[in-house]
Amino acid sequence: MAERFNIAADHLGLDNGLRDILRTPDREMTVAIPVKMDDGNMRVFTGYRVQHNFSRGPCKGGIRFAPDVNLDEVRALAAWMTWKCAVVDLPFGGGKGGVICDPSVLSQGELERITRRYTTGILDILGPDRDVPAPDVNTNEQTMAWLMDTYSMHVRRTTTAVVTGKPIVLGGSRGRAEATGRGVMITAREALKKIGMRPNQTTVVVQGSGNVGGIGAMLMQREGHKIVSISDQFSAIYNEKGLDMPDVLAYLKANRKLTGYTKAAHVSAAEQLELPCDVLVPAAVENQITSANAQRITAKVIIEGANGPTTAKADQILESKGVLVVPDILANAGGVTVSYFEWVQDRAGFFWTEEDVNTRLERIMVDAFHGVDAMASKYKTSLRIGAYIVAVGRVAAVYKLRGSYA
Ligand code: NAD
Repeated sequence: MAERFNIAADHLGLDNGLRDILRTPDREMTVAIPVKMDDGNMRVFTGYRVQHNFSRGPCKGGIRFAPDVNLDEVRALAAWMTWKCAVVDLPFGGGKGGVICDPSVLSQGELERITRRYTTGILDILGPDRDVPAPDVNTNEQTMAWLMDTYSMHVRRTTTAVVTGKPIVLGGSRGRAEATGRGVMITAREALKKIGMRPNQTTVVVQGSGNVGGIGAMLMQREGHKIVSISDQFSAIYNEKGLDMPDVLAYLKANRKLTGYTKAAHVSAAEQLELPCDVLVPAAVENQITSANAQRITAKVIIEGANGPTTAKADQILESKGVLVVPDILANAGGVTVSYFEWVQDRAGFFWTEEDVNTRLERIMVDAFHGVDAMASKYKTSLRIGAYIVAVGRVAAVYKLRGSYA
C-alpha cells in the first residue's frame, strides 16, 4: 500500500510535508483490558484503536479480535480505510481497532466483558462525530450491540450512531448484509461495459463463499453471469456449464463446507484461480494472486472482493497481460458505503427501505467506478493507481484548504 500511495503522490505532485502528514496516523491508543474470566481469575488483554486520518470526518473502520493482532497491522488497516472511504467520497476518515485475544477459547460472557472494557478504554476518542467502529474479523452484530450499549451508558443517552453493523432492531441498516457483494456485482458490470462485454456473455470464478463471495456470486448470477466455480477454505467446485448458486449456498448452509458437494467437480485451490473464465473474483483472503500464478490467470477482469488479494508484483504481470483489475478499495467499498448509510439513518432517526439503500449504493458505486476510470485514463495508469490518485487527492485537497492549525 505504501508503494501505491507513493506512486499516487508522485502523480499528484504532493510535497514531502503533505506526504508525511498523510502517512502518519492522527491518533493511536493502546489500552489495557483487565477482565474477570469465568474461572474467577483476572486476565489483562491489550487493545488498540488507530485513527489514521480524521480530516474529512469521523474515522470509520472495523474492530478485530484475534491472537495475532498488532499495532503495525492495525495502523496499515486504518490507512487503508482512509483511502477506501475517500475513493467512494464518504465524509469519513480511516480507523481500525483490535484486541489481542483468541475468541475460539472465550465464552460469550468473557467476550462481552472484553468488548465492554475495551470500549470504556477507548471511549474518549469514540463518538458519532469522532470515530465510528464496525465489525471485522471475529466480531459481529452482537459485539457492536455491546459496544453501542457501553458507550450509551457512559454518555447517558442511547447513541446508535457510535457504531455500524448493528442488528436492524438496534438501528442497523437494511441492505448492509449484502452491500459488499452488491458492490462487487456493480463494479463487475461497469468494468465489463468498459471492455464491451455484457454479464450474460461471461463466465465467473469466485474464491470464497462468505459474505462477499457467496452473496456476490448469487447477485452476479441474477445479473446473468455464469458462475462456473466457487470455493471455501476447504474445497473449490467447478462446473463449466454453470453452478446453481441458490443450491450451492443452501448446501453450504446445511453442511458448513463445500466438501462433498456432488453436482460439480472438485479442483484444488491453486487450480481454481487458473480456470478458464472471463471474470475472477478473489473474495477470501489476501495475497492469492502473486508472481507465482499471475501469468497463468486467464480472466480478462479481476474484481477484488477481498482486501489485498493481489501482490504488487502480480499487478505488474497482470497489467502487461492487459487484465483489468478493479482494486479492493473500490470493488469492496459497498460495505463501508452502507455503513455510512447506517450512520446517516441513525443520526436522522429515519430509516430507509432496502430499495432506497440499494439505489443510493448503486449510484455511489457507479460514480466511483467512473471517477476512478477517468483518473486512470488521465494519468495513463491502472485502475488501482487511479483509485489511489482519487483518494489521496481528495484527502490532500482538504489539507490544502484547512491548512495546519498551530
Ligand atoms: P467470510 O468469513 O464471510 O468468508 C470468507 C470466505 O473465504 C469463506 O468462504 C472461507 O471459507 C473462505 N476462505 C478463507 N480462507 C480461505 C483460503 N485460504 N482459500 C480460499 N478460501 C478461503 O468473510 P467475508 O466477509 O466474505 O470477507 C472476505 C474478504 O473480503 C476479506 O478479505 C474481508 O476483509 C474483505 N471484505 C469484507 C467486507 C464485508 O463487508 N464483509 C467488506 C470489505 C472487504
